Amino acid sequence: MTTVLAPAETATHCPVCQHENTQTAEFCVQCHAVLLRRCPKCWHRQREGAACEKCGTNFALYWADALERSLKEEVRVNRDKVVAEAGTFAQLVLMSFSSLGGVLRALVSRLLAIRLSRR
Ligand SMILES: [Zn+2]
Ligand SMILES: [Zn+2]
Repeated sequence: MTTVLAPAETATHCPVCQHENTQTAEFCVQCHAVLLRRCPKCWHRQREGAACEKCGTNFALYWADALERSLKEEVRVNRDKVVAEAGTFAQLVLMSFSSLGGVLRALVSRLLAIRLSRR
């Protein structure tokens, strides 16, 4: 396995396969690698650079931020789901371990005992 370390881009050469593409090519005609970068914020297209030439958005930071936000959101959603499931599970456990009929009977008999003792 080889690790690709952000190859230096040239205007016409594909950074992946070195195939010579036209100036306006958005993708490499040979390996379909992305030749034109599109700013995720303002959609400005440029051939190279780590930040948008138009609005100055740092692509790496933008995507890292977007990824972090999506991860946080995922964690939050999962935690809510886990808590909800744990709550349901706890209810089921309580229901099965304490018979409702037994609780009611005990309550009624206690009330009856109080009433009888007062009379
Ligand atoms: Zn290519
Ligand atoms: Zn931009």
